[in-house]
Amino acid sequence: MKSKSDVRGMSYQHQYIKLEEDFGAHNYNPLQVVLSRGRGAWVWDVDGVKYLDCLSAYSAVNQGHCHPKIMRVLIEQAQRLTLTSRAFRNDQLGPFYKELCEVTNSHKVLPMNSGAEAVETAVKAVRKWGYKVKGVASDQAEIIVCQNNFHGRTISIVGFSTDPKSRDGFGPFTPGFKIIPFGDVKALEEAITPNTVGFLVEPIQGEAGIIIPPAGYLKKARSICNKNNVVMILDEIQTGLGRTGKLLAEEHDGIEADLTLIGKSLAGGFYPVSAVLSTSEVLGVLQPGEHGSTFGGNPLACAVARAALKVLIEEGLVQNAAEMGTYFLDRLKQIKNPKIKEVRGKGLLIGMEFFAEAGGARHYCEKLKQKGVLCKDTHDHVLRFAPPLIITKDIIDWALERIEDVLSRH
Ligand SMILES: *Cc1c(COP(=O)(O)O)cnc(C)c1O
Repeated sequence: MKSKSDVRGMSYQHQYIKLEEDFGAHNYNPLQVVLSRGRGAWVWDVDGVKYLDCLSAYSAVNQGHCHPKIMRVLIEQAQRLTLTSRAFRNDQLGPFYKELCEVTNSHKVLPMNSGAEAVETAVKAVRKWGYKVKGVASDQAEIIVCQNNFHGRTISIVGFSTDPKSRDGFGPFTPGFKIIPFGDVKALEEAITPNTVGFLVEPIQGEAGIIIPPAGYLKKARSICNKNNVVMILDEIQTGLGRTGKLLAEEHDGIEADLTLIGKSLAGGFYPVSAVLSTSEVLGVLQPGEHGSTFGGNPLACAVARAALKVLIEEGLVQNAAEMGTYFLDRLKQIKNPKIKEVRGKGLLIGMEFFAEAGGARHYCEKLKQKGVLCKDTHDHVLRFAPPLIITKDIIDWALERIEDVLSRH
């Protein structure tokens, strides 16, 4: 499509980019594309150029952009009631709790807004549980986390990150975290002490580069946690809600975490909603006044999340992620390029890793963008393919044609 441009023949995009560069903090390094519209798996830039979204806002738009059913609920609820704070009750919160518990097989929910807040909430709840229930001495609670984790950007969370960019210059950090290698059950067993209250882990490490642990890892970790009275906390903020071809990635291992953290596509990309789900009684230790959030559990968030969950289930998006993911992964694996080290994934969370000397994944993101496919590199050498779960075989074929073309030429 021909680009619209301003009087100097410049694409509209440059004006928006300049505004961001001039007035915004530079804490991101985005691809140079300025989007103004989205529908389903597709997005359009300000010049009207169409792209396939293969990132889905880091899995926050699993239901596709601007899903009409979710949009309708958002508009209707926005006209009725948006925010009460938790000082009063609202008529969306209870039904949201019940429906979320039913689909995820949980007992209790604590709603927050961002993913990082859900992680912080879990850390607080599990510490409190440690003191009140497990009997750990005051201020001695330890939580075990994994190397290369990504759980968000708050001070406590970056304090137990192993990524120098995430933590350098931000100390001092919150104590009480122990870091072990990911995928290593022996390391977990050895790290546990009588003061260990929780083990926080991603079922698949997303930001680290779609790192899939050895088969049975979560199952073994589950039994180690059971044996030692340690709360298993799964961060499913990226892997959850259908992304890996199961509603929750824990289902691949046939386990249930004690605390499960979800966020991102919980509200279909319309609104920031996260939640801590609890199958054990861990959330029961929190008493009035001990934790909260002004916006957490607001009626607009709850209504939108209810609609987003309904879409996920009614439209069979979990099953579609499994089927389309298998197809996409198989076809990506067939691409012949000596620079590709490995293609791996589960459902529609797919990573293509390049050899370190190949020059980085960013280069391919730029080339793919020119062809109309938007992807994002993660950790220099991995390209992530994570389109909305509504994607069809025809669209994947459309994408593959372009991906194959870019990867076989460059
Ligand atoms: C995105 C993400 C988070 C943080 O979510 P925010 O909403 O950005 O705070 C936490 N954990 C995982 C696994 C994530 O992918």
